[in-house]
Amino acid sequence: MLPLKKAIQFFSAFTIFLVLHYSAYCWGFYAHQKINYFAVFLLPPEMLVLYKPNISFLSEHAIDPDKRRYAVPDEGARHYIDIDQYGKHPYDNLPQKWNDAVDKFGVDTLKLHGIVPWHIQTMLYRLTDAFKVKNFSLIMRYSAEIGHYIADAHVPLHASSNHNGQFTNQKGIHGFWESRVPELLAEKEFNFFIGKANYIKIPSDFIWMRVFESAKAADTVLLYERDLTLQFADDKKYAFEKRNGKTIRQYSAAFTIAYNKKLNGMVERRMRDSIYAIASFWYTAWVNAGQPDLKGLINQKFSNTDNQEFKTLNEQWSLGNKMIGREEQ
Ligand SMILES: [Zn+2]
Repeated sequence: MLPLKKAIQFFSAFTIFLVLHYSAYCWGFYAHQKINYFAVFLLPPEMLVLYKPNISFLSEHAIDPDKRRYAVPDEGARHYIDIDQYGKHPYDNLPQKWNDAVDKFGVDTLKLHGIVPWHIQTMLYRLTDAFKVKNFSLIMRYSAEIGHYIADAHVPLHASSNHNGQFTNQKGIHGFWESRVPELLAEKEFNFFIGKANYIKIPSDFIWMRVFESAKAADTVLLYERDLTLQFADDKKYAFEKRNGKTIRQYSAAFTIAYNKKLNGMVERRMRDSIYAIASFWYTAWVNAGQPDLKGLINQKFSNTDNQEFKTLNEQWSLGNKMIGREEQ
């Protein structure tokens, strides 16, 4: 049991976040884990030698940044950017360099609207440094976590202030697009064989481009759900299904399949783009660090301190879930 004071701290941190950006669950745990998992197979042999034996870690810990949201108030802003708050494409009003953006808008405003494209670059520096000093634990943690943020940047509703359809009477669409669709269809219908990672010359340009693509697709994500809703009676749009022993209402399989069809493969495409981008960022960090030989790290394990941190994170996560009465995903 955690002391009451700590429990209250977690709860207050989450309440603040809830007010700012509630229910922006990223990709869903299922998709995040798949995305990190498949990214490993795009790596060159010099990296595979370390990443393949640790593929379970990279996949399981793809969701650590989401778990941290209860305990770290700053965490929420790292997962999205409400880019429509800065005008229209190509968003000339918004400086892409962090320091210029801070000068213009201030840190508070930037955090309020989300900082995912900048945070990915911070993570890239951290990962590069971890490679330079050949720190096994940091290489693995940062690889897993940068994977999370890159994948989030590919979700259209992570680049829109209408992130859960709350302005258009479409509440729930966030989880519908990024959790329900892949959970129902990825295993059977999506193809994750992608080729190989490439070196990214200008990571900032690359990630901003991906964010712009997400922002552009957000309208379609919302519009198609609205169109399809007109064709489905309420009892056909939703279905009651058992999950973890409880009956919950969710989008029906028929509605999910029809939506995915109408989107013409968008969810699969964004998952594939995420996988390619993650592997390419891992590879770019390794190249920029001077292509260190990773063979010497193969037999390394996480320390007791590492394992204790992972355990604490899970405890905070479970506690946060209990306090808001949400089921673990
Ligand atoms: Zn996220």
